[in-house]
Amino acid sequence: GAERSKNVLILMSDTGGGHRASAEAIRDAFRIEFGDEYRIYVKDVWKEYTGWPLNDMERSYKFMVKHVQLWKVAFHSTSPRWIHSSYLAAIASYYAKEVEAGLMEYKPDIIISVHPLMQHIPLSVLKWKGLQKKVIFVTVITDLNTCHPTWFHPRVNRCYCPSKEVAKRALYDGLEESQIQVFGLPIRPSFARAVLSKEDLRKELELDPDLPAVLLMGGGEGMGPVKKTAMVLGESLYDNDQGKPIGQLIIICGRNKALASTLESLEWKIPVKVRGFETQMEKWMGACDCIITKAGPGTITEALIRGLPIVLNDYIPGQEKGNVPYVVDNGAGVFTRSPKETARIVSEWFSTKTDELKRMSENALKLAQPEAVFDIVKDIHELACQRGPLAYIPYDSTSSLTNVI
Ligand code: UDP
Repeated sequence: GAERSKNVLILMSDTGGGHRASAEAIRDAFRIEFGDEYRIYVKDVWKEYTGWPLNDMERSYKFMVKHVQLWKVAFHSTSPRWIHSSYLAAIASYYAKEVEAGLMEYKPDIIISVHPLMQHIPLSVLKWKGLQKKVIFVTVITDLNTCHPTWFHPRVNRCYCPSKEVAKRALYDGLEESQIQVFGLPIRPSFARAVLSKEDLRKELELDPDLPAVLLMGGGEGMGPVKKTAMVLGESLYDNDQGKPIGQLIIICGRNKALASTLESLEWKIPVKVRGFETQMEKWMGACDCIITKAGPGTITEALIRGLPIVLNDYIPGQEKGNVPYVVDNGAGVFTRSPKETARIVSEWFSTKTDELKRMSENALKLAQPEAVFDIVKDIHELACQRGPLAYIPYDSTSSLTNVI
């Protein structure tokens, strides 16, 4: 009947923390807005259903971003459409049956891709199965500016772009204006809706109640010059003349366990907290006054929502490069690769340049789009409503791709 809940399949991959974070943000927003109306599955179809190289993307990605030059080559050499589309088409036909099985298992009414390599193959499978007109397919882009062209596919029902810059690229790459919406990057609802006081958070997280606090991190994997920066900050946030700290440091290492244990073994003159992977980032950000991070889109967007001025100290070549001018040109932060420079900037923010810190915090809040994730799920809901009560989709287990082609 028309009252059954609709199935939403979100395709992601654990390459970095960002894609999973966006996928879970969308899932949570669906639950908050629409309750049982939608049943949501967050899946890495590649990992679960295919063979190499698709099932290995997480590992190859981690390897490549650690060896930055390799990643640069991979990113730029796969940019021209004719290369990536024929490559992906070849992989698609090789794994078609497995991907088909993976997609069909969840009987999706709506498919949401939050990954640059999850447009072509699923859309090809839908086409082969004759499901193109029945299943809604949307892309949610998770790069703020310079994104890879594999994000753009002309057959999507919607392409949600986090910024005007990305929307421009989408148009340039052949998408129609009617396919594009710009709401912002989707961030976990806990960031958007929670009202948290800094004072309470500091108590809960056992931080110093009065000292200004800087949060230092490097994405889900704890990448970038975190250790060096921490050590220089440990010195520069200590006022030798007065014999006391002028700030406190919180370091979130994500999944980088080696980094966390190295930092834990060091002696500090200032209050320092070293943490591993944290699940309540909104609390840590809410307790701090500024942030130092590589230019990850997730972390940047979250920091903007919390009004944290940002020191960007690194970026992954290719997709993260454009995030730097996005922050700097909008007056919400600065870029420097030098740990010394970073430490100088932060200690000035905490002493002689508090007005600059305040101004950048205001600019950050102006850029923030905390409602983005809700705007996206409401728009997807509209799309679903426009199709009327969702037609029965003939998912049956007996027909397989081999019968269709
Ligand atoms: N993150 C987290 N816990 C941690 C470290 C990171 O939840 O301990 C989250 C962070 O809040 C952000 C995401 O992981 O949402 C990192 O995404 P980003 O785009 O900044 O970088 P990536 O890790 O994808 O390279």
